[in-house]
Amino acid sequence: MGRAGSAVEVQEGRAVTPADYRVLDGDVPVLYAPRLGAKALEVRDYLGEGCMALSGMLSVEPPGISALLVADEDWKDAPRDNARPYPPGFPYFTRSVEPPALVLPEELSPVFGPRTAATLPLTCWHELAHAFLLAREVVKSPAWLGELVPQAASAAIAGRAHLSLEDHQLQVDREPEFTVRNLRGPAGVRDQMSFQNLLLVLASAALEEFGEDFLRRLFYGLWEEGEIVDEERAEELLVDALGPGGREWLASRPEF
Ligand SMILES: [Zn+2]
Repeated sequence: MGRAGSAVEVQEGRAVTPADYRVLDGDVPVLYAPRLGAKALEVRDYLGEGCMALSGMLSVEPPGISALLVADEDWKDAPRDNARPYPPGFPYFTRSVEPPALVLPEELSPVFGPRTAATLPLTCWHELAHAFLLAREVVKSPAWLGELVPQAASAAIAGRAHLSLEDHQLQVDREPEFTVRNLRGPAGVRDQMSFQNLLLVLASAALEEFGEDFLRRLFYGLWEEGEIVDEERAEELLVDALGPGGREWLASRPEF
């Protein structure tokens, strides 16, 4: 523990973390508002588990990032890519600071659900997976593929961390009025959550059927892709990552 000091640089004259924020060392150091010490420990442990699992599955070093656990009153001053603050309660990953940062709110927005013991760790691992993916150059791809990666990663980390997702997934609405491919923006936050949950169901089923190697192939497939990925190519990438029988399996999935 110690003072935040200059662990996160100030950009464009804007102080990105209030001076009284403290640092908790770890695979991903956590900068946190002094009154959020207990949550900082929890988050630090999830991120440590996530780093170890993903580094192992992907055979890569963890990305050099930090996490900011931001108090509600400081949310509007948190580092971000856009000029305007993001809605309160929504975690994100930003490369607007050095090192890049996972920005986590004091409390997740009420829209995050289902609420189970898995909600917070899955959310931390989702953002961590974005950071792992973006540690290398990645071309643009359809939203469903770009978000399937972190959802599959967080489900795979849960598997290694012996966190059962059964109870969590039982509470997911598996029959919203869209599939992961046909949700078209601008979607409201509730539809966005349903979209993420549907991706989690699809990703978990894929991991069960094809194993962790599916996730590894998906990461490397995206890292090796040189051109913008259109819908057709996105499906090819996923089928290739699934491996033998992948196309048929995918065609049988109601979420897809
Ligand atoms: Zn995401």
